[in-house]
Amino acid sequence: MTRHLLGVHPPLRGNLHTHSTRSDGHLRPDEVLTWYRDAGYDFLAITDHQVEPRPTITTSSSVDGILLIPGGEFHPESTRHGDRWHIIAAGVPAGFDATAFDHDPTGLIRHLHAAEAWVSIAHPSGQGVDATDVEQLGPVHAVEIYNERSRWWDERVDGWYLADALASRGHHIGGVAVDDAHFDGRPDHGHGWVMVEATDRTVDAVIGALKDGRYYASQGPRIDALSLTADTLRLRCTPVEAIFAAGRGQTVRSVIGDNLVEAEIPLASFRGGYIRITIRTSSGQRAWSNPIHV
Ligand SMILES: [Zn+2]
Ligand SMILES: [Zn+2]
Repeated sequence: MTRHLLGVHPPLRGNLHTHSTRSDGHLRPDEVLTWYRDAGYDFLAITDHQVEPRPTITTSSSVDGILLIPGGEFHPESTRHGDRWHIIAAGVPAGFDATAFDHDPTGLIRHLHAAEAWVSIAHPSGQGVDATDVEQLGPVHAVEIYNERSRWWDERVDGWYLADALASRGHHIGGVAVDDAHFDGRPDHGHGWVMVEATDRTVDAVIGALKDGRYYASQGPRIDALSLTADTLRLRCTPVEAIFAAGRGQTVRSVIGDNLVEAEIPLASFRGGYIRITIRTSSGQRAWSNPIHV
């Protein structure tokens, strides 16, 4: 029996973390939506900082041809290091107000789940957040495993350390690549996205697919199909120079070659843990699957 993880529905390309003039971004919501639409995106979550003066959630768009996902970046106090949390939520309903949770991160997470939002930990490396911190925070759907803005902020772009640690502890956790675009003169847009296999082009379908893990993250290359049988993971992708399967601890299988477009990975060494795929083109662009428990 084959379990098809990716390659079932045509994917929608989207960015799940963006700022506008409603917080510290430099473009208005309609300008940001227009930029992403013209760059070939299907959806965009506008996630302005929910700090004073607290903007209402952006829920309506005047821009045709791109789906707006209402969202926010929430900053309750505080992490173990005394910093504000950076928590992204998408599919946030109109009128959602987190004021009561400014000093209650776990309450905020419960409130977001009650609103049926999808929740992720933004740029965890930037706050030094670890797996125990996230376990104490409460359940989240994903971790930003790549944040483009961080490349122009602190060079702590990588969140896989956290997603791997959570997956190793048995948590079902996704990995998303995002821009965290601000359009303030730095080239922080168009470099990290998700490809979501939603059943149709609606907010509910995108959020549902995100919660189900039916997506992968990319900087360029595509994962066209990913499937599991009892003993093998199969992958089809656009041409790459390297395909890596990583699991718990130092468990890894790699395939290196010219213009690789497929791989078959035996699952035996990943059993009892998880497996996740990274592919890399000859110019260094990567795409990543979510961790899959096997
Ligand atoms: Zn942030
Ligand atoms: Zn942000």
